[in-house]
Amino acid sequence: MPDCNETLRELYTFLDDELPATARTVVDSHLDGCLDCLQAFDFYAELRTVIAAKCRSDEMPPGLMAKIEACFGQDPGAAGPSTPASPAAADDG
Ligand SMILES: [Zn+2]
Repeated sequence: MPDCNETLRELYTFLDDELPATARTVVDSHLDGCLDCLQAFDFYAELRTVIAAKCRSDEMPPGLMAKIEACFGQDPGAAGPSTPASPAAADDG
């Protein structure tokens, strides 16, 4: 049975789903009996969800998209869907 420090050290690997099954079982069993670690894992899991949602809502600057297309050797504006510019004024805090 690992102590709290060992368990928290695996936190990011655990949340990334990159922990081997055996190690996951060890962490899981520790979280079963340790409320402190369970709350820490919950907190970081939620934090990552919020950050991921924020990153998704970021818009790419138009110039960057052209550069990326150039890197892939495509003619910018040759074919493909063009998104109409619409002002995003949604603000639900
Ligand atoms: Zn613990």
